[in-house]
Amino acid sequence: MDKIFTGLTSELKSGNIKDLKTPCYVIDEKKLLYNAQILSSVIERTGARILLAQKAFSNYDFYPLLEGKISGTEASGLYEARLGKEEMPEGEVHVFCAAYRDDEFDELLTYADHIVFNSVNQLKKFGPEAKRQGRSVGLRINPECSTQEGHEIYDPCAKGSRLGVTRSVWDKEMTPEVQSLLDGIHFHTLCEQDSDALETTLHAVEEKFGDIIPSVKWLNMGGGHHITKDGYDVEKLEKLILYAKEKWDVEVYLEPGEAVALNAGYLVTRVLDIVENSDIRIAVLDSSAACHMPDVIEMPYTPPLYNACAGIGKPYSYRLAGPTCLSGDVTGDYSFDNELSEGDVLIFGDMAIYTTCKNNTFNGMPLPDIYSLKQDGSLVKLTDFGYKDFKHRLGKA
Ligand SMILES: *Cc1c(COP(=O)(O)O)cnc(C)c1O
Repeated sequence: MDKIFTGLTSELKSGNIKDLKTPCYVIDEKKLLYNAQILSSVIERTGARILLAQKAFSNYDFYPLLEGKISGTEASGLYEARLGKEEMPEGEVHVFCAAYRDDEFDELLTYADHIVFNSVNQLKKFGPEAKRQGRSVGLRINPECSTQEGHEIYDPCAKGSRLGVTRSVWDKEMTPEVQSLLDGIHFHTLCEQDSDALETTLHAVEEKFGDIIPSVKWLNMGGGHHITKDGYDVEKLEKLILYAKEKWDVEVYLEPGEAVALNAGYLVTRVLDIVENSDIRIAVLDSSAACHMPDVIEMPYTPPLYNACAGIGKPYSYRLAGPTCLSGDVTGDYSFDNELSEGDVLIFGDMAIYTTCKNNTFNGMPLPDIYSLKQDGSLVKLTDFGYKDFKHRLGKA
């Protein structure tokens, strides 16, 4: 856990963080660069192309830092595609969406280099126009190979999933004419996983679609690769990339979100009050799990906290909870070396991903301001939010 917070210590000593208006997010440039360097070395050694999946991290002020080290951006639809095109203009723009809309498709084509469809029907409907405009066209397949247990909402291979074309549906619906539109095949089945899960998945892809892949130019292996996590087997990943390239003569793409900004941000918060119930002491913070770190509840997970242990392990235990009316607005149970008091500043780690791009104003909660922790250690405020950001999304401006 200490490593997660190494970038922060000098700032903490100088006290700058403690002067910040809380809650706020701080994005750590050094950590982003550390991740980008790892990804860039995979690109160099394998010739694969690696894209930032913007649904995990879309703080575009940092795109110039990533540009040149990674190959471009991946989008979930029109807005992210536009953001990628505008803010990382030198990079490729790829889009995957479970279903494209008629009224957006022409505009989408102005931003996207690669368009990946989720069904034979959508490929047939939109593929010819995409090809006419010189875009590279792909289809997402579903290899029906679950490699994760426990959280079905993050498993695109779960039974009944809408994501990707299974082989039996391919055989039923695909025609030679529609197939001739294809430049690439896409699969995305992993979530926070190591390269052994990719190996299992690649075997399944080969078994189910191995006859088709040699006829396309590229294979996109999606996201969920935890490449920048300590202990991730990068060597195995690189072997698998090279295997695919050699076996099928394809370009290989990866589009991790999480791995690009893993551990590259903090949520700084203050203790507003301390209450007690049945021997449990609860610190009420000015940040909300439900609003500011929604994956804590949705995933669920317990984020790292600076100078504290998740669970017991230190003498003073507290449940950390939000100021909203939601009973379940709890970030987790932690223990500390000292008692907490009103006004104490706490710093959650790994708060760059699925946070700033996923937060909300439920309960009238303010959106946290966003800061950059620059490489020289200085803090720069990138944006701030107020009452108007809460109000404007609810009615007439
Ligand atoms: C979510 C997603 C990603 C990124 O996933 P991470 O787990 O953040 O790496 C990439 N591609 C697609 C199609 C996705 O849905």
